[in-house]
Amino acid sequence: MDFLIHNTGWIEVVCGPMFSGKSEELIRRLRRAMIARKRVQVFKPVIDDRYSKSEIVSHADVRMQSLVVSGASEILSKLDWRTQVVGVDEANFMGMELIEVAGQLADSGKQVIIAGLDTDYLGRPFPPVPDLLAMAESITKTLAVCMRCGNPAKHTQRLVGSEDLIEVGAAGQYEARCRRCFEPGLPRQEMLPFLRPRTAPFEEDP
Ligand code: ADP
Ligand code: MG
Ligand code: ZN
Repeated sequence: MDFLIHNTGWIEVVCGPMFSGKSEELIRRLRRAMIARKRVQVFKPVIDDRYSKSEIVSHADVRMQSLVVSGASEILSKLDWRTQVVGVDEANFMGMELIEVAGQLADSGKQVIIAGLDTDYLGRPFPPVPDLLAMAESITKTLAVCMRCGNPAKHTQRLVGSEDLIEVGAAGQYEARCRRCFEPGLPRQEMLPFLRPRTAPFEEDP
């Protein structure tokens, strides 16, 4: 986004499945802003304390200090008015207020860089990220490596049985899968009627 002129705010979104490098890309962009001597603040939701309570941490252990908030509205109360670049990780846990907050920050001249899951464990759009994509000046979709076949992976496969939308976890509970290898938890793909093999023509369903 080097072409944007001085004093203009904007929104950049980095989205994709787990393990696709969203946090690493967010940290890379924020480090560059710091090198450019911009004032940077980074926020993460309190719900994500997988590796650290006060840092954003990537799966390859790249780290950056961050402020912890319970939801997007707390970003505004913890914001230093001199901050020029605002980073947000795990946008999918920040709540719908992030749409309003990101818009306000960008309108007030700040560069807002947001990272988060674009789809949930069933492959559905994960609020509020789809709305943020519509609002953003710049969108980057990161892909992981499918743990089944090695192809580019856009899905987050849940390996445990929970049906809660939010089940914070990492390796062991989730893995990256491509379109072909992804098996949404419910309904299982082989249970869809048009895919179910019919053994006996007049057999009744149990
Ligand atoms: P995200 O924030 O999108 O979950 P991270 O930035 O935390 O991703 O981690 C990305 C890093 O995870 C990669 O650089 C790589 O070292 C590691 N990694 C582990 N599993 C995978 C995978 N299946 N595909 C790609 N990278 C993976
Ligand atoms: Mg991450
Ligand atoms: Zn695959």
